[in-house]
Amino acid sequence: MPEITGPARVRFAPSPTGHVHLGSARTALYDYLLAKQTGGQFILRIEDTDRKRYVEGAEEELMTSLRWLGIEWDEGPDIGGPYGPYRQSERKDIYLKYAQQLVESGHAYYCFCTPHKLEQVHQEQQQRKESYHYDGTCRALDPKEAAARAASGEPHVIRFKTPKTGTTIVKDQLRGEIAIENSQIDDYVLVKSDGWALYHLAAMVDDHEMKITHVIRGSEWLPTFPLHSLIIRAFGWQEPTWVHLSVFLKPSGKGKMSKREATDLIKDGYSIFLKDLEGLGYLPEAVVNWVALMGWSYDGSTEFFTMPDLVEKFSLDRLNPSPAAINFTKLDHFNGLHIRNLDTNDLASRLVPFFEKEGFAVDFDKLVKIIPILQVRIATLDEAPQMAGFFFRNKVKPELEDLIAKGLTATESAAIAERCLRELRTLDDISPEKAEPHMREVVEAMGYSAGQVFGIMRVAITGQKVSPPLFESMEIIGKDTVFKRLEKAITQLRQAL
Ligand code: GLU
Repeated sequence: MPEITGPARVRFAPSPTGHVHLGSARTALYDYLLAKQTGGQFILRIEDTDRKRYVEGAEEELMTSLRWLGIEWDEGPDIGGPYGPYRQSERKDIYLKYAQQLVESGHAYYCFCTPHKLEQVHQEQQQRKESYHYDGTCRALDPKEAAARAASGEPHVIRFKTPKTGTTIVKDQLRGEIAIENSQIDDYVLVKSDGWALYHLAAMVDDHEMKITHVIRGSEWLPTFPLHSLIIRAFGWQEPTWVHLSVFLKPSGKGKMSKREATDLIKDGYSIFLKDLEGLGYLPEAVVNWVALMGWSYDGSTEFFTMPDLVEKFSLDRLNPSPAAINFTKLDHFNGLHIRNLDTNDLASRLVPFFEKEGFAVDFDKLVKIIPILQVRIATLDEAPQMAGFFFRNKVKPELEDLIAKGLTATESAAIAERCLRELRTLDDISPEKAEPHMREVVEAMGYSAGQVFGIMRVAITGQKVSPPLFESMEIIGKDTVFKRLEKAITQLRQAL
């Protein structure tokens, strides 16, 4: 692979047709990394000329999701830049001018075939078991006559005049050279009858005008890649470096994920859409780390990367063209790692909305105290309220059956709770350093198991059977509340008799 010598100008060019998914996130990330690493620019271009697929609000969601990931653009529709406009719907005349140029140079032609006529041709080709291609009727028209018909307002499209002989050789950075017989390349439509350019023309024009040096895009563009090279060559422009990324497969590794499968994932607490991942408690840092490694590796073993690491270490020649299966277990793993990498206040601030969503009024100072015990235990932020919500409750309501330790009666459990309370009252403070060794001795002396004794205490004090470590929790809850809750549990157990 040739060394990248100068600053790269790269563009992310999504169509606002729905939610931003992992595939888009990865393309945008690689674009961004290459731009930042080389001191170049990352450009956001919105490809919104297909009004039928246009989704209201998708552009806003896209920008929010990219910014959530930590990806900022240097030029784009909202901030402008020297090569704008950056929305294709605002560039209609630019494309028409270039289409005209191709017609004049003999690389494109007007086609007046009606949709009805094309449909007939299609059906005949189907009967002959041929794949669909334009039959070339208007390719043979006299250019002057065709121009006059177009000028007179006769409905027409503009098609690319693909050479019919010879071979086109194109080069993808990951796959090397790809050769295709020109006879296999159709005379694609560049401009539709409504005057709007299609991707094949619009994207090539924009990449040229915006001085793009590297085109990183999905491998769904490989079939029309030779056409794109031919269009660029017809203009006499220099081709960018082409990078077609690998395909994402569903977690089983068998095939691509259907829309339905993608939507259903949410039931298991996962999603391929960025807007969902945030609400599910994933950190953008983890998503970036996870997505970066779906098709790229550094040394094959290093796994933990922050954005600055990636900017430093990313390289096109470590990209892998093989399909990558989406592995959500890995996402959980990375999320855990990045949660543990956050500093206390940062993690606390990110947890606040998750507690509030569950109806807890958060005391931030208290939350900061809880962080050390939470940080090592949660894989996603949304696990925190269930695990630690009790810290923000004034009252806990243990279930009676949970207060009764396994293999014991309510009377025995009440007696244990009483003994525990008595012992704790003898201590100067209930810090884990003091309380835990003392209570372990008490357990020994009583002849019950630690599971039984601490189980009763845990349920009495936290209201739940599973909690962060008991003694650390007790210290945060505070002596007075701990004693009060034990007293209440004793009464509850006694009343059950
Ligand atoms: N608008 C195209 C898409 O969303 C862009 C492809 C490209 O990056 O060139 O697939």
